Formats: sequence, C-alpha cells, structure tokens
Amino acid sequence: MDLTDLYQEIILDHNKRPRNYRALEPCTHHAEGRNPLCGDELTVYLLVKDGVIQDVTFQGEGCAISKASASLMTSALKGKKVEEAEAVSEQIKDMLTGKTEAADMLDTLGDLAALGGVKQFPQRVKCATLAWHTCETALTGDTEATTE
Ligand code: ZN
Repeated sequence: MDLTDLYQEIILDHNKRPRNYRALEPCTHHAEGRNPLCGDELTVYLLVKDGVIQDVTFQGEGCAISKASASLMTSALKGKKVEEAEAVSEQIKDMLTGKTEAADMLDTLGDLAALGGVKQFPQRVKCATLAWHTCETALTGDTEATTE
C-alpha cells in the first residue's frame, strides 16, 4: 500500500485497536451493512437524544480498511448533532470519490482525512464508505444497508 506514512499509521492503529467496538444497549438506531465486494459486514448502533448522537458503536467482521473506517467514524461522530454527522459523511464520500483532496480536508476532518488515502485503491473505496453508509441508513430508520 502506498498511503502516506501518517495516513497508514492512523488506519493501522484503528484497525489494531478499534474504538467503540461493542454493541450498544439501549440504542435508538441500528443497521447492518454489507459490502459483498470484499465480504465486510458490520452493525452500527446509535443512541440519539434531542438530535445529538450521545453514543455510537459498531461490531462486525471485515478488512482493515472497513474496520478502521468504522472506528474513526464512531470516534468522530460521538457528541455531534445528527445534521453535523450527515455533513461529515458527505465530506468523507466527496473525498473518497475524488471531489475533494484529502490534504485540503485535513483541517476540517483531522484523523478522518486518513481515509482519503484509500481513494488510490478504487476497489477498496466501498470498504471505507461502508460504515458511513450504514450509519446514514440507521439514522433514516432503516436496518439494512449494502454498498451494491
Ligand atoms: Zn473491505
């Protein structure tokens, strides 16, 4: 992998020690996400109160990128308003589809900008977007998401 050292370090760290890796009970929203291309499967749990994400966790099996992305996502979204979370999700997708450059998003996104390195590997982009897609799905009240 040809990620810059910083990006690689962040991804590897979150894969090795995933944050918020647990089921959330009670939760107000949850959804199961699947990425058939790679075989990644994860469940995202949210506890939302007064429009604010009080807690967000995940569980599942998948490749390093899918797990690191979910770990980074849960770390970033805890305490955010639902609409803020949706805006961050859009920024991540724009970065992964090449609409914005990761280097330009470093100030806005912090560690999340590390996910931008994945866009050099088009077949892995869905691994990185899975957690975000699943979280969006959960917030709309649906319980199943697929990257297909
Ligand atoms: Zn994957």
